Amino acid sequence: MGTALESYARGRWTAGADGVPVVDAVTGEEIVSVSSAGLDMAAVAEHAREVGGPALRATTFAQRAALLKALAGALREHRPEFYALSHRTGATLFDSKFDVDGGIGVLSAYAALGARELGDDSVLVVDDPQSLSRAGGFVGQHLAVPRLGAAVQINAYNFPVWGMLEKLAPALLAGVPSIVKPATPTAYLAELVVRKIIESGLLPEGALQLVCGSAGDLLDHLGPQDSVAFTGSAATAERLRATPAVLREAVRFTAEADSLNCSVLGEDVSPGSAEFGLFTDQLVTEMTVKAGQKCTAIRRALVPEHLVDPVLEAVSAALAKVVVGAPTSESVTMGALAGLAQRTDVRAAVEGLTRSASIAFGDPNKVDPVDADPERGAFMAPVLLHAADSEAPEAHSIEAFGPVSTVLGYRDTDHAVALAARGRGSLAASLVTADAELAARMVRGLAPWHGRVLVLDTDSAPESTGHGPPLPGLLHGGPGRAGGGAELGGLESVHHHLQRIAVQGSPAALAAVRGGGR
Ligand code: NAP
Repeated sequence: MGTALESYARGRWTAGADGVPVVDAVTGEEIVSVSSAGLDMAAVAEHAREVGGPALRATTFAQRAALLKALAGALREHRPEFYALSHRTGATLFDSKFDVDGGIGVLSAYAALGARELGDDSVLVVDDPQSLSRAGGFVGQHLAVPRLGAAVQINAYNFPVWGMLEKLAPALLAGVPSIVKPATPTAYLAELVVRKIIESGLLPEGALQLVCGSAGDLLDHLGPQDSVAFTGSAATAERLRATPAVLREAVRFTAEADSLNCSVLGEDVSPGSAEFGLFTDQLVTEMTVKAGQKCTAIRRALVPEHLVDPVLEAVSAALAKVVVGAPTSESVTMGALAGLAQRTDVRAAVEGLTRSASIAFGDPNKVDPVDADPERGAFMAPVLLHAADSEAPEAHSIEAFGPVSTVLGYRDTDHAVALAARGRGSLAASLVTADAELAARMVRGLAPWHGRVLVLDTDSAPESTGHGPPLPGLLHGGPGRAGGGAELGGLESVHHHLQRIAVQGSPAALAAVRGGGR
C-alpha cells in the first residue's frame, strides 16, 4: 500500500482519503494513492487571488525574473532525486533529463527573458505613445498589468516536470499565482518538485498551490480575472472549455491537445544520402524518446511514393536495435509507457490504425523487456505501420500516444502539403530536404496548419534540437486539433497573464501613468 500523496493548498500539505492507487510503470508496485477529497476548491482559488496575487504583484517584473533564476538554481540541486522518481514513470535517464532539465531550462529561459525585456516595474510598457491628434496634445499607448486572478494549470501525464514548469514560469513572471493540477498517473513526481519549490522558501505564500487528484469543482469557482491552461487530450479539452463558469465569466482558456504531427521527406532526397539518414534517424528518435509519449512526436511520416520501401527498411532496421526494458538498466534504450491503462489505449489505437495500415515492424502485443516483467510493467515494442492508401482516414485521425508511427506515400509536394493538413492542425512538422526552394514552398504550405516547422538539412543538423523539443523562446502550440493554444513562445505567454490596456490622454498624463507604476 503506497502512502497518500499530499496536495499543497492554502499553506498546508494535506492528503485526501480513499485515493486512487498509482503504480510504478516498471514494476507495477503501488507508489502512492492520490485523492483531492476534502479540498475546498473555492477557498483554494480565493487563496490564490487574495494571498498569492497581492504578494506577487508587490514585486516588479525584474524581481520576479530574479526569483525564477533562483528557483531554477534551487531545483537543479535536487536533480538526482527527481531522476530517481522519474524512472518509476518508465523514463530512462535520457528521458528524465529531457523532462527535468528541460523544465528547469524553461525557468532559466524565462528568467533571462524577464530580465532582458520586461523592466524593473510593475507595469509593462508595451509600445511607444502614438499621436492621436493633429497638434500632438492627445496620445495613446498600450500598457499591461498582471491580472488579479488565479492561473489554473492542468497538465498531462507525459512530462510531469517540464509540462508543469513551462506553464508556471510565464505566470510567475507575469505576477499571477498558480494552481497546478498534475495528471494522476505521474502526480508523485510533480509533487516532489513542488515540495522542493515550497521548501526553498523563494515563493511568497499563495503563489503556488498543488491539487493532486481530481480538480473537483475548481473550474466552477473561476471568475473573469482567472485563466485555465490545459494540456491533455482533445476530448477533455472540449469538456473543460464548455464549463458554464468558464464560458459565462470569459475565463481565459488555452488548450494544448493531441496532435498528429508529421515529418516530410523531400522529393529531392535519395536513399543513402545524408538527408535520408537524417529523416530515418529522426523518426526513430521521435518514436522511442519517452516511449513516444511526446505531444510533438512524429505520428505520420510522409515520404515520396518511390521511397516508401527504402524508408520502411531503414527504419525497421534501426528499430530492431532498440532495447526495451527497465529504464535503469544500462543496455536499455527505451523505457515503459506511463502505465498499463496507457498501454491498453495505445494498443487500441494501433488496432484502429490497422484498419487501413499494415504493420511493417513490431508487435503491439508482444515485448520482451530487459530486467522487467512484460505484464506488470507497461512496456511496448515500437510499432511502425505503412498505410498503402495514404488518403485513408485512420492515420490522419487516430493518435497512438506511444512508440508508434505510420509511413504514408505522397505523389508530389502539393500532395504532401494536403496530407499534412489532414491532421486538422498540429503542433510540429519537420521537413528534411537539401533543396532550399522546395523548403520555401513547403513551409508556406504547412504554415497555416502548424505551430512550428523544422527544416532539417546537413547545415542545421549538427546543432538542431530536432523535431520534438519545444523551445522556450519559440511558439509551442498549434491550430485546430492541437488545441488552438500558444504555450511558450517568449513574451506572448507572459502577456497571456497580463491585461493589456490602451491608455489615452495628454502626453504628460501618460508619462505620469507610466512613472507611477512603481
Ligand atoms: P487527459 O486524460 O485529457 O488528462 C489531462 C489532464 O486533465 C489530467 O491532469 C487529468 O487529470 C485532467 N482532467 C481530466 N478530466 C478532468 C476534469 N473533468 N476536470 C479537470 N481536469 C481533468 O490526457 P492525458 O491522458 O493525461 O494526456 C495524454 C494526452 O495529452 C495525449 O492526447 C497528448 O497528445 C496530449 N498532450 C498534449 C501536449 C501538448 O502540448 N499539446 C503535451 C502533452 C500531452 P487526471 O489525470 O487526474 O484525470
